Amino acid sequence: VTERLVVVGGDAGGMTAASQARRRVPDAAELEIVAFERGEFTSYSACGIPYFVGDVVHEYEDLVARSPSEHRQRGIDARTRHEVLGIDLDRGTVRVRDLTGGGEDDHPFDQLVLGTGAVPVRPKLDGINAGGVFGVQTLADGIAVRRAVDDGKPARAVVVGSGYVGLEMAEAMVQRGVDVTLVEVFEQPMHTLDLDMGALVADALRAVGVELYLGEPATGFETTGGRVSAVVTEQRTLPCDLVLLGLGVEPDSALAAEAGIGVGETGGIRTDETMRTTADGIWAAGDCVETWHRVSHRPVAIALGTHANKQGRVVGINVTGGEATFPGVIGTAVTKVCAYEVARTGLTEREAAEVGIDAVATTIEATTRAGYFPGAEAIKVKLVAEGGTGRLLGGQIVGQEGAAKRVDVLAAAVWNGMTAEELVGLDVGYAPPFSPLWDPVLVAARKLTDLVGS
Ligand SMILES: Cc1cc2nc3c(=O)[nH]c(=O)nc-3n(C[C@H](O)[C@H](O)[C@H](O)COP(=O)(O)OP(=O)(O)OC[C@H]3O[C@@H](n4cnc5c(N)ncnc54)[C@H](O)[C@@H]3O)c2cc1C
Repeated sequence: VTERLVVVGGDAGGMTAASQARRRVPDAAELEIVAFERGEFTSYSACGIPYFVGDVVHEYEDLVARSPSEHRQRGIDARTRHEVLGIDLDRGTVRVRDLTGGGEDDHPFDQLVLGTGAVPVRPKLDGINAGGVFGVQTLADGIAVRRAVDDGKPARAVVVGSGYVGLEMAEAMVQRGVDVTLVEVFEQPMHTLDLDMGALVADALRAVGVELYLGEPATGFETTGGRVSAVVTEQRTLPCDLVLLGLGVEPDSALAAEAGIGVGETGGIRTDETMRTTADGIWAAGDCVETWHRVSHRPVAIALGTHANKQGRVVGINVTGGEATFPGVIGTAVTKVCAYEVARTGLTEREAAEVGIDAVATTIEATTRAGYFPGAEAIKVKLVAEGGTGRLLGGQIVGQEGAAKRVDVLAAAVWNGMTAEELVGLDVGYAPPFSPLWDPVLVAARKLTDLVGS
């Protein structure tokens, strides 16, 4: 008998699971794989959208890793413009609407993978649905923004919210010659950093000409003839031709919740470390799930392509009888605003305090290459460690070219529970074009050892 695997969602989480399963079981007579995607595209890089809008990448097709027909050639029945409306756990079926006008059908499954992604936060503010107000979540959104910039030639854009998506879209607008204003509810941009490091991001934004209004939430939008003409805050009205929303996302767990599948306190679908949900034969991967933070020991929902792909791989192995586990996350992320790079991993000082860990922190300033070497740029590294033990809890980096990916060394150190003292002794590479003799992350660790007081 042929087993039937149904996948909901045709991007990173869902299609990585489908592709991995197909690689392990190439014979469609043994395992049939059907993937339903309500949009037009499959396996696209949402991460590449800001660079397509900024015209760093010229064609949106380049962001599509595998089209529906390429999936079909590889034995995955990818059906775009098909939306899954509900899951019947008792009957083992999903209800699917053909959005091209073909009606609704029930489709049976033996195993089901949920890869529904996340939904962007879109507060109910006056005018938020006006023309010219864009969310940036799917490739279709990216194409719409690009078109608005190409055709509409906006002079002024306001970015609302300064998570990494907001920052990357601000960069894209700067690259397109649009005047950019950024409005943020918190005191500093990028609330996933401590405020002192966020202040450096604010400086970096100002350095590329972005106007900032911090601690100032958008309260509504003025419109003219159905199109946005200004963003309104409590303090001011900011005239603009285009608005980009970057207010973050929430796990899209509605289908799972309606079917009685467990959803956690973060709003993400609960899974065990094999990515199995609370229901038998139902798996989940990507932005729709809740995962485990290895340092805070708390459930978290962190929407990143890195996690979606890794979780999808684990699902693809496990649905085909293998044994793989997803080990959790430590919140590593990198982003860039023009010449400035931003990175973080583990816990910030604020997050450590929130989970009740007694932490010490230090920040150092250094250069990305030997000081005398051409192209040496400024870099600031902040490290956070547990007081007494010196166990590294997290790190943040803001600097110019070559700064951000240094976070990977920190990620490995935090992941493995290394102390600041152990990091000081780590055998990292050195030559003048790559770093000063003491790499900035080691300099920060060295300074931290003085504070740990073990
Ligand atoms: C602008 C932008 C920049 C980003 N940059 C980075 C980055 O630099 N690094 C990084 O790691 N991550 C980045 N991300 C995040 C990354 O893109 C996501 O974490 C990743 O796409 C998650 O994959 P997913 O498959 O879980 O969800 P998605 O990519 O959201 O895919 C879910 C799919 O499911 C479909 N779907 C949902 N419900 C249904 C239904 N009921 N029926 C049928 N189909 C359904 C949706 O249409 C969607 O295509 C970025 C995201 C954005 C928006």
